[in-house]
Amino acid sequence: MRPLQAVGWINMSAGSGAEPLRPPTQRPPSVDAVARGLAADVDLPQALLVEAAREAIAAGDPASAGQRAENSRRRLLLPVVNATGVLLHTNLGRAPLAVHQDATAWNLEMDLESGERSSRQAHLAQLVQALTGAEDALVVNNGAGAVLLVLSVVSGGRPVIVSRGELVEIGGEFRVPEIMALSGAQLVEVGTTNRTRVADYQEAVQRHSEVAAILKVHQSNYRIVGFTASAPVRQLAELRVPVLADLGSGLLDAGVPWLEGPPPAWLASEPAARQTLEAGAAAVTFSGDKLLGGPQAGIVAGRRSVIAACAAHPLARALRPGVMVLGALQEVLLAYLRRDVRSVPFWRMATAPLDRLEERAHGVADSVGPSRAEVVDCVSVAGGGSLPGLELPSVGVAAAGDLRPALRGWEPSVVARMQDGRTLCDLRTVEPAQDKVLAAALAAAGR
Ligand SMILES: *Cc1c(COP(=O)(O)O)cnc(C)c1O
Repeated sequence: MRPLQAVGWINMSAGSGAEPLRPPTQRPPSVDAVARGLAADVDLPQALLVEAAREAIAAGDPASAGQRAENSRRRLLLPVVNATGVLLHTNLGRAPLAVHQDATAWNLEMDLESGERSSRQAHLAQLVQALTGAEDALVVNNGAGAVLLVLSVVSGGRPVIVSRGELVEIGGEFRVPEIMALSGAQLVEVGTTNRTRVADYQEAVQRHSEVAAILKVHQSNYRIVGFTASAPVRQLAELRVPVLADLGSGLLDAGVPWLEGPPPAWLASEPAARQTLEAGAAAVTFSGDKLLGGPQAGIVAGRRSVIAACAAHPLARALRPGVMVLGALQEVLLAYLRRDVRSVPFWRMATAPLDRLEERAHGVADSVGPSRAEVVDCVSVAGGGSLPGLELPSVGVAAAGDLRPALRGWEPSVVARMQDGRTLCDLRTVEPAQDKVLAAALAAAGR
């Protein structure tokens, strides 16, 4: 029988009637044989090794099977070392998270007291209540989903007022006007790009009958500076229209009671859930994986009536999170309540003292070799569309040249950045347990 792969053994680029690459007497290797040969080197299920072998043989280059299999493996979701200094790196999954869970069933939708069916939202609502003072809360898949849900529920197709300075685009195509259109809300713009006053909202409330809500959107990833004005939630709440505040980043409480000492200065202008609700917002929305430091999720917190209406809306079913997300978010919220934010990687990174970072940087640089790695001062940033302009002093290890491709090629991949023509690895975003990996990767990359 003619081997199936013989078709692919022809050099296609040479056009029709091309000569086989090897004398016809020499058979191409079988897909199975090539795939078996890969098994020792590439940790992939047999079916994917077979695919790599088939492609390599079809391309007339059986020797490339190993590289193809390796490429396929590296397209999988893999842990990486974040040495970029961007704490919430969107391309690296925003807030880092520890996840360990053996197989088990959960009381996801069962009340263990009565044995009756209950809501998957009940578990976390009490924690969000305790942390923010909200009457109730609901968790969906992400921040965008939270905004879409609450706008759909509250607007009911009626007008919603937004400042022209808050019609923002957050990374990944989240545009406030588009989310509003999708929710069925009629967008009523007020004010100007740099200045919107309470009177502008008041005038719009009077002009449009049936205004459903005022939406405040945090300008998460940019700032307007100079001649500016915006209306505080406390004053808007007096206009007798529900105020919805899309906070974005998920700072739970401006008092930051989970940290020792006073709130860090870099959080000073960040709106927080507790204070926004206290100021009279009917509901706030925020992400689980920005400053909250948890898994990807979106949280709606606020008045009981708003949350109940959200829970009853068909979108809530479409946007509901699974048990893994709820479980991970629960861990993070409990850590806040225990004031044990050292178990939340984001806060551990954000508050790591400089002398400790310097000590670790020297450890890494020493093991790479003093002639090839140097300890340098640098700055970390929040990232993830949060706290633009924030620069947290940090310490890194710099090495000559652009080592980024080699570092990404290490196992696990190390993602670094360039600074002054050198490769910089910022220790603030590297887990201390990963220092050894970083040192080994740097040592190998510089060779
Ligand atoms: C980040 C952000 C969102 C989107 O949240 P995701 O969790 O990324 O979906 C919405 N609104 C604001 C103000 C944000 O900062």
